[in-house]
Formats: sequence, C-alpha cells, structure tokens
Amino acid sequence: MLQDVALNCYNIVQSYLSIDAESAVATTGDVIKQTQESIQLSRRYLLQDIFTRWDPFNGEISFSYNGGKDCQVLLIIYLGCLWEFFLMSIQGSQYDLQFHMFPLQQLPTVYIDQEDTFLTAQDFLQRSVERYHLSLYESAKDKQVDMPSAFKSFLSVHPETQAIVIGIRHTDPFGETLQPIQKTDPSWPQFYRLQPLLHWNLSQIWSFLLYSGEEVCGLYEMGFTSLGSVNNTLRNPYLRIPEPIGSMTKAETEHSDFQWEIENNYRGDSNMHCNEINENDLNTIKQHDSSEFHPGWYLTKDEWERAGRLARK
Ligand code: ATP
Repeated sequence: MLQDVALNCYNIVQSYLSIDAESAVATTGDVIKQTQESIQLSRRYLLQDIFTRWDPFNGEISFSYNGGKDCQVLLIIYLGCLWEFFLMSIQGSQYDLQFHMFPLQQLPTVYIDQEDTFLTAQDFLQRSVERYHLSLYESAKDKQVDMPSAFKSFLSVHPETQAIVIGIRHTDPFGETLQPIQKTDPSWPQFYRLQPLLHWNLSQIWSFLLYSGEEVCGLYEMGFTSLGSVNNTLRNPYLRIPEPIGSMTKAETEHSDFQWEIENNYRGDSNMHCNEINENDLNTIKQHDSSEFHPGWYLTKDEWERAGRLARK
C-alpha cells in the first residue's frame, strides 16, 4: 500500500538525518552534513510552501518521473513528506493513527515517452511503478510530439493537475536560474513547476540514494551517469577503467566516495541493488565500447555528469 511505502520513505529520510555527520566525516568528508541540510530545505519547500498551497492528496499535484536518480531521490523525500503531512493532518484527532485512512492509494505520476530509451530503464520504470505505488500516465510514444504538446495531452486527461513536481537541479542544463516554485513559460501549457531539488549536487544525490538501499536503475552500475536515449547516451568516458599495463592490475578494487553509505545502508545489507541489465542493452553497450567502466556513482563532478551524451543529430 502507498501508506506503507510513504512510511518507509519517511523512515529512510529520518535515518539519514540521524547519521552522526561529525563521526562519519573521517570517511565521507562533509557530504553527509551537506546532504542533511539539502534534505531539510527540500522538506521545508514541500511541507511549508507546497503542500499548504496545493493538496497532495486530491490530484492537484502530479510527479514527473522517468526512473532517473534525481527524480528517485525526490520521490523518496516526497513520499516521506506525504507521510509527515498525513500525520500533521490528524494531529489533535481523538482517534489513534490506526483508525485513520491514508488519503491516497497511488501517487499521480507522469512520464513523457519521447525517446528510444534503454530497455533496462523501461524495466526499472515499471518496477518503480510497483514498488512506489505510482499511478503512471505515459504519453503516447511519438518522437514528433514536443514536450509542451505532450504535457498538453497529459493535462487534457488530468485537468485536475495544477502543479507538477520535477527533479531538476541547478547544475542541469538550463537549471541555473530556476526557482523552487514557478509557472511554466507562456509558450507552455499552464501549470506550476515544483522544483524542490534545485540546490542538490551530484555527490549529495549519490550519498542519499546509496544510503537508502533502494534499487536503482542498473544502467548506473554499468557506468552511465545520466539516463538519455539509446541513440545519444554512452557510458561516461571519465569512468572508463584503463586497460591493465604489464603487471599492474585494473583499478577495479578502488572504492567510490560512497563506500560508507553502501556499507551502512538503511536496508542493512551493505549491498547495492540495481535492476538487471537487459541482454539487448548489454550488446548495444558493449558493441560501442568493450572497456570496463566504474559505476556511475564514482563520478562526483557535476560538470562531467552529462559527458556521456552525444550531440543530437
Ligand atoms: P538523470 O540525470 O540521471 O537522468 P533524472 O532523469 O532524474 O536523472 P534529469 O534527466 O536531469 O534527471 O531530469 C530532471 C527531471 O525532469 C527528472 O528528475 C524528472 O522529474 C523530469 N523528467 C525528465 N525526463 C522525463 C520524462 N521523460 N518524463 C517525465 N519526467 C521527466
């Protein structure tokens, strides 16, 4: 039930916030403290500025989700905040929590299916639908249709939508000047863009996501750092592992910056969880470059995040 998932996400967030950042600093640097601050700001946006303006339980808000790492981080925080908001709404009631119904069974979400996505990413999206109880609107697959038209069609099916949550960050292309709450441009269908993740950087995304112990899209484990179309996305060249020279071994055993998060993950199993790479994807990826790559979370430079993207033809 969505209620259980929301409670679980709330517990993940609380667990991350309760990490003693001072004692973890020797192994993790300042990233945990910074991520804790980023979470608190995202929570404030959601609980104080957004949920007080649009009701998250009646369909006014939809969540844009494609299975990428940024929207997954935001989804976990968003669901955790839904739980908090629910608790706040029943405060003062004479009845115990168990006698109150969580007011939502599925989370309204929207996916714009425009590109030739990797089958692994499609599979991960479907797994997310089940795991997080998403009610997913998928736009008709049509490469000729631009984003504004796709959203227009979405709004004609879901006219109750007034605002859409987006997991964009300031370091993303065209993200620099965005605001946490803003109207769409005049040339777009009109709704509010809700962007509570703008201030997060790449290290913070990985620190939180790896700590959560939630399954992430398997493409990241292969060396992708951002999910794009099959035709324009390669593994990140900065993650390629050089061929061994003479007796030197490959740098495979090096750790990422987030070893602490994996070893101490919320799930308690010290493991990374990714969905399985589709066989066809594997062939396509290996055909292009047979080298080995470090997983995506070995890259923490925001400016290199999209180095695997080719210019569109
Ligand atoms: P990654 O950068 O690793 O691919 P991501 O997809 O979450 O992660 P972006 O590609 O920067 O992040 O996209 C920003 C946000 O825009 C996403 O978090 C999501 O909310 C929204 N978004 C992007 N593509 C789609 C899509 N095809 N359908 C619906 N929402 C999308």
